[in-house]
Amino acid sequence: MQLRMQKIGALIFRVTKNNMSLILKNIKNCVTWDSERGGMLIHENIDIAIEKDQIVEMGAHLGSADHAIDCSKNLVTPGFVDSHTHPVFLEGREKEFSMRLQGVSYEEIARAGGGIVSSVSGVREASEEMLIKKMTERMDTFLSLGTTTIEAKSGYGLDKDSELKSLSVIDKVNQAHAIDIHPTFMGAHAIPQEFKNDPNAYVQLICEEMLPAVRKQGIAEYCDVFCENGYFSSDMSKKILLTAKEHGLKIRLHADEFQNSLAANLAGELNAVSADHLMAISDEGIRALKENNVIATLLPGTTFFLGKTEYAPYAKMKALGLDIALATDFNPGSCHIQSMPFILSLACIYLKMDILDAIKATTVMGAKALQVEDEKGSLEVGKKADIVIWDLVDPVQIPYSVSKDCIDTVIKNGKIFKNS
Ligand SMILES: [Zn+2]
Repeated sequence: MQLRMQKIGALIFRVTKNNMSLILKNIKNCVTWDSERGGMLIHENIDIAIEKDQIVEMGAHLGSADHAIDCSKNLVTPGFVDSHTHPVFLEGREKEFSMRLQGVSYEEIARAGGGIVSSVSGVREASEEMLIKKMTERMDTFLSLGTTTIEAKSGYGLDKDSELKSLSVIDKVNQAHAIDIHPTFMGAHAIPQEFKNDPNAYVQLICEEMLPAVRKQGIAEYCDVFCENGYFSSDMSKKILLTAKEHGLKIRLHADEFQNSLAANLAGELNAVSADHLMAISDEGIRALKENNVIATLLPGTTFFLGKTEYAPYAKMKALGLDIALATDFNPGSCHIQSMPFILSLACIYLKMDILDAIKATTVMGAKALQVEDEKGSLEVGKKADIVIWDLVDPVQIPYSVSKDCIDTVIKNGKIFKNS
């Protein structure tokens, strides 16, 4: 069947009818989580049959379909699930990047009024349309890099109206874009300038005004807090997160990024879905995550982008059997990285992750960190057809090909996006 084509960012979208059937023929190597065995699996020479947006059959020599893609020379993996991003901002922060090259630290920049706070004026002044345009371009890039599901945080508004505007932007982009987006309210991303001398009053504003308004708006699924000494202390974070729970939001935390701030302990105490960053987590914090089934989401891109050398203690977490996800932490300041393939490289090189563990952490564990593992994150019958076809054969070639784009085609909900 000849498909009509349309260009979206770096992708050529092959327009498919809603009820089109698709078959990936004779896949050389198909790497995925296997729910029945509870482990990663490499299928060789397998077909995947797709009807509408779903995988309906997997096996050798399946029948025909409206459209077929020959994968006899290709590696195939699930689409990436990026469970931690900050994509609602206006402009990049290249100037700050230059300052850091001259030796000024991220914390010093933040104290001098840069950092997160400097993105705030951009979001406050921008129209919703402008933010939608910017975020849509970023989603095109994510999709071209193989990410099919994403979490997106507000948190550059830091007042009620601008936070609601940011969530509305996420919702509108989600409705229009092929990528599935899970919205998180993060009013507690930084203390805004006007509350610099009275941070507790800002916590009060979040609890008494922002969270009720966020609930009424009905977009956010999660509430996230930057729980770190000097930002939102463990006590402040606890107050915000308990209030968020009362308003029906599930919770996740930025935890122990720069120093042990007892954030992982709090994540365990409050049964957060995920605790993220964790470069400075204590042994006790690791145990708290394990005992309370909190997913540890590691963001090696941030350590790398900030030029730091201390990565999260992955080996200890693995030894204790934690669920571990990997995500980009894409944001304009501390991690301007959108590529999950690059995150795989960092995880293998710096966290010493095994390649199959790293693929697991970027697919099925990312899905678990967004509580969508029943329908996404693996290639199994009944799951969504969210698939990456690579110009590669062996999974280890993904992290090995650090600077090369090796994605041939992305399939999202059964629709085909060919990299141009
Ligand atoms: Zn973050």
